[in-house]
Amino acid sequence: MEEKELQVLVENISIEFFGKPFVHIARMNQRLRTTGGRYLLQTHDLEFNPRVLERYGMEELIGVIKHELCHYHLHIEGKGYQHKDEDFKLLLKETGGNRYVKDLRNETEARPNYIYHCKECQYKYLRKRKLNTRKYVCGHCRGKLALVRS
Ligand SMILES: [Zn+2]
Ligand SMILES: [Zn+2]
Repeated sequence: MEEKELQVLVENISIEFFGKPFVHIARMNQRLRTTGGRYLLQTHDLEFNPRVLERYGMEELIGVIKHELCHYHLHIEGKGYQHKDEDFKLLLKETGGNRYVKDLRNETEARPNYIYHCKECQYKYLRKRKLNTRKYVCGHCRGKLALVRS
């Protein structure tokens, strides 16, 4: 998505759901890692993680935009703009913004702790937790599993 498109999208959502204009800058920021977006207190600009759109699509991005616009409008109006504030919770609910961002970690960040392979068919199993290899067998061939790396 181009910067201009994002800017227009944020402006439109602001008018449609908040009834107030967004008069600052909205941009994508490649360096955001696990956050979907952020509101910059100093400049009032909004930044969004391009992974939100790439991974979860437009609906998810709109949810994140609404979330950041809640911070934006409340902060500018001198109301409770933090997650813990009632004003924030209420406005988020009213506008249908996302409360949490979906998993945005990339593959290396979400690296499994244990890798097993099937001794028969060599199929690999990536697991966060340790498996009991006496209990679990290969889902493809029922072969025995062996720990490759932990
Ligand atoms: Zn937030
Ligand atoms: Zn197997």
